[in-house]
Amino acid sequence: MRAIRLAATGGPEVLELVDLPDPSPGPGQVLVRQAAIGVNYIDTYHRSGLYPLRLPSGLGMEGAGEVVAVGEGVSRFSTGDRVAFASGPIGAYAELHAVDAARAVAIPEGVDDRTAAAALLKGMTAEFLLLRCRPVAAGEPVLIHAAAGGVGQIMVQWAKALGAVVIATAGNAAKAARVRDLGADHVILYGEQDVAAEVRRITGGAGVPVAYDSVGAATFEGTLASLSRRGVFVSFGNASGPPPAVEPGRLMRMGSLFFTRPTLGDYVATTEELDASAAAVFSRIASGQITIEIGQTFPLSQARAAHGALETRQTVGSTLLIP
Ligand code: NDP
Repeated sequence: MRAIRLAATGGPEVLELVDLPDPSPGPGQVLVRQAAIGVNYIDTYHRSGLYPLRLPSGLGMEGAGEVVAVGEGVSRFSTGDRVAFASGPIGAYAELHAVDAARAVAIPEGVDDRTAAAALLKGMTAEFLLLRCRPVAAGEPVLIHAAAGGVGQIMVQWAKALGAVVIATAGNAAKAARVRDLGADHVILYGEQDVAAEVRRITGGAGVPVAYDSVGAATFEGTLASLSRRGVFVSFGNASGPPPAVEPGRLMRMGSLFFTRPTLGDYVATTEELDASAAAVFSRIASGQITIEIGQTFPLSQARAAHGALETRQTVGSTLLIP
């Protein structure tokens, strides 16, 4: 099979297309012939070395396709089932991938494989952030950064479905227009405008009770200054680089703030949590409350180009590799 491997960390050029023997599923695993592979920002952290990997390594956490073999002890799936997955073992950038059956979910009728690969990891992230990490209440203003991106688009739509007043940020006018179309009430061009000043203006000076920040270093100060008294800073990504250390005294001085740095794995830690989160995503898609934009697809062989596009902010919505 063809797969992407890396022997060293670095820029997109470290990604190599190689031929490998077809894998077989280990105990508890299913072998998936992938129809589509989800590209996620975390893949760039693994590739760059921000999140350490043992090298040489494959890359990628997410995909969807057909089960073509089942390992010993698997009762959750059978050959021919359509499944999607959004966690390790890392190595989804491949034609075939052996995944733990307990970490895969069935794709419901009516959801195609590409949509599943574009929606699962990013959708479950939106689900745990908005419903469980810091649940959003109807009528409250929330700040969502990088709203035209993969996770961002889903969060905007889901937060609106929950009744929130969505204040979104985006990197350019075209992305801002897309975010407005998805229902955002206010869009701040964070490259040009002062985020905290805009948030204060929109909220009549109060600030937002919760801000979801996946951009990291570049937005950290603006996010902090946008929060209302006892507001919650949900820091969940590093697209512009990791945010700085948080000094507890600053949280006190800026209004008894809360700071959390969650990761999806801890919110879908059990198979029951995984199934519930995935079901919530698929049901919002089925109801039409959330549409998944596959903004760009690349052949598997063009993984370098996919990473280049993601890291230079040229993507909107979800990005797929097609084997
Ligand atoms: P996106 O599609 O959102 O791509 C990242 C976006 O971030 C860009 O399109 C860009 O939008 C914005 N951005 C702002 N500054 C920069 C910069 N300096 N370099 C690159 N991008 C920048 O990616 P994903 O949907 O895959 O992921 C979104 C974020 O969520 C990532 O930070 C990711 O790590 C995080 N995440 C966290 C999870 C968790 O469990 N904690 C799970 C899943 C994702 P614009 O041009 O509009 O500024």
